[in-house]
Amino acid sequence: MLSNRMQLINKKEIFISCIVPIYNEAELVQLFFNQLQAALYQLTQHFEIIVIDDGSLDATVQNILALPAEFKIKLISFSRNFGKEIALSAGLLHCRGDVAILMDGDFQHPIELLPSFLAKWSEGYDMVYGVRQNRDTEPQVKRHLSRLFYWIMAKITSIHIPNNAGDFRLLDRKVIDSLNTFKERTLFMKGLYAWIGFKKIAVAFTVQKRASGKSSWGFFKLTELALTGITSFSDVPLRVWGFIGFIISLISLVYAIYIVAVTLLYGADLPGFPTLAAAIMFFGGIQLLSIGILGEYIARIFTEVKQRPPYIIAFKSGFEE
Ligand code: UDP
Ligand code: MG
Repeated sequence: MLSNRMQLINKKEIFISCIVPIYNEAELVQLFFNQLQAALYQLTQHFEIIVIDDGSLDATVQNILALPAEFKIKLISFSRNFGKEIALSAGLLHCRGDVAILMDGDFQHPIELLPSFLAKWSEGYDMVYGVRQNRDTEPQVKRHLSRLFYWIMAKITSIHIPNNAGDFRLLDRKVIDSLNTFKERTLFMKGLYAWIGFKKIAVAFTVQKRASGKSSWGFFKLTELALTGITSFSDVPLRVWGFIGFIISLISLVYAIYIVAVTLLYGADLPGFPTLAAAIMFFGGIQLLSIGILGEYIARIFTEVKQRPPYIIAFKSGFEE
């Protein structure tokens, strides 16, 4: 089987599907697909570039459609912005390759890395993922928050998400097919990649500066993504309150016994207001926090049970039949 993969690559007969989600990248798309197409021709005779237009508002779609026909581009255009994760899942559902390569369309994932991805695949790995060496294109705060996120994930979930690994990866057909069986609406791809298993290997790369435009991941979107990651892979936040409640009840019991004893021994007087105020605020805070976390899970259950389609396709172009 290993040699089979090697043969496919050596004879340039491997079918590669490149999946590129694009959102408002009008200035970049033509240059990007030019370079990607050229790079793919070096590797194989069979490939397709699946572009998911995630509801771009600028001239992105026109610029893609304006590319000459020899570009093997299959375009799926969403009716609005559904988010990169959903876009990737649509790409995986539509691709036909032996392998799929997921990459950003803003040159931040170096195209030069594709041969080394394929080399690892031919060695028998079913998933090859890029791990960024540098995060200095990002602000300090973002780096710290992302480190915190990975730390929490490692502590409270049973899956291991490699640090600094993003969506830049190569997936074998087996992996694509397994990912396509997922019915979840709140997709946290990074978690799913880890959850499904298979033989994986990391390839280091340096994140380039964005060639133009700006990252569309603001603070809130990233926080939302982090919450999705945690809530869809861990029930610890949901269940920890039982434990905290138990501990607090225990402490309260001891304190109550103490108060009763003191009152019986020395009679009642009225001080103790600070204790009372502090206790009320503390418990109020804890209760709101735990209800809020319940809410996070319920909101996600709500999303799942509505059973809406994960995305709406406005039109497709370049697909046969
Ligand atoms: N993208 C997308 N939908 C979105 C936001 C981004 O398809 O809602 C695409 C974007 O065009 C790019 C890739 O996803 O090709 C990565 O996005 P971005 O550069 O904004 O994210 P970052 O590099 O900061 O992770
Ligand atoms: Mg980017």
